[in-house]
Amino acid sequence: MLIDRYGREIRSLRASITKRCNLDCIYCHNDGQPLEGKEELSVEAMTKICRVFNRLGVKKMKISGGEPLIREDCVEMISSLIGFDEISMTTNGVFLAEKAQDLKEAGLDRINISIDTLKRDRYSKITRSSPNILSKVKEGLKEAVEADLTPVKINMVLLEINRDEIGDFVNYIRKNALQDKVVLQLIELIDLNGSFPNKVNTNEIEGFLMENAKLIGIRRTQNRRRYLYRGVEIETVKPVDNTAFCAACSRLRLTADGFLKPCLMRNDNLVKIKDGASEEEIERCIKEAVKRREPYYKGR
Ligand code: SAM
Repeated sequence: MLIDRYGREIRSLRASITKRCNLDCIYCHNDGQPLEGKEELSVEAMTKICRVFNRLGVKKMKISGGEPLIREDCVEMISSLIGFDEISMTTNGVFLAEKAQDLKEAGLDRINISIDTLKRDRYSKITRSSPNILSKVKEGLKEAVEADLTPVKINMVLLEINRDEIGDFVNYIRKNALQDKVVLQLIELIDLNGSFPNKVNTNEIEGFLMENAKLIGIRRTQNRRRYLYRGVEIETVKPVDNTAFCAACSRLRLTADGFLKPCLMRNDNLVKIKDGASEEEIERCIKEAVKRREPYYKGR
């Protein structure tokens, strides 16, 4: 088992498999990856790295990006991963409808779909893409549920432009009878460059939920709260200035070009896994990255 200097167990790997994306969201942190470095780990390299993580007791894996479904070999990559208790993915959902069934058959357990708004004009503004894409994403959500990639989590980053839509999402889930299959995940914006002066105050939303919903649990992962509101499960993710979030962080990240990344918020402590590294070398790199892990918000 991997445990860092702060007593935090590493239970999950979050692997970006590409930095490329077909959308250009106004707030995107690109999973914290440096944008230079264009090469992408091959299926074989990824399989080998994952085998070592698995041997070291990491049994959960999330595939991210960039947009993971851009990679032609994404399904092949998932089928090559063995030994995990849960493999999940986060996607913008644009290419999901045609791939959901194959992903399930390849071994994907569940999926997160980023949908910040249900309105075409807002979708276009947020993603800096065509408003017509939103219907493909909704179709992707439907197919993901059909393929049993559940619970499907809708990732909604809270912004000034969509803060009035939480009720609309709840209605959408109810109207499509998805309450048992879909969770609405409200994510606090990480404003890396100070570009969002009117950042949504998530305490207000949390306060509303505390008053109007039933708190049904606090997850071991990053101390996230789970509520039941009008029959719909809502989870809140509050990464900013949150020592409890860091205290319960159990993740190590891997960038698309083969760097281990101890913290979403930093790029000054990465550990490169050399091309063609042996399993012993990979293990040494993982242990070095674990050694470099420290809570971003510590001592506050
Ligand atoms: N393209 C995929 C997607 O859309 O899910 C995977 C990559 S995306 C970087 C992963 C998740 O990070 C998405 O749910 C996205 O909304 C979230 N995200 C990106 N930038 C963020 C930010 N600045 N603050 C909070 N969440 C962010």
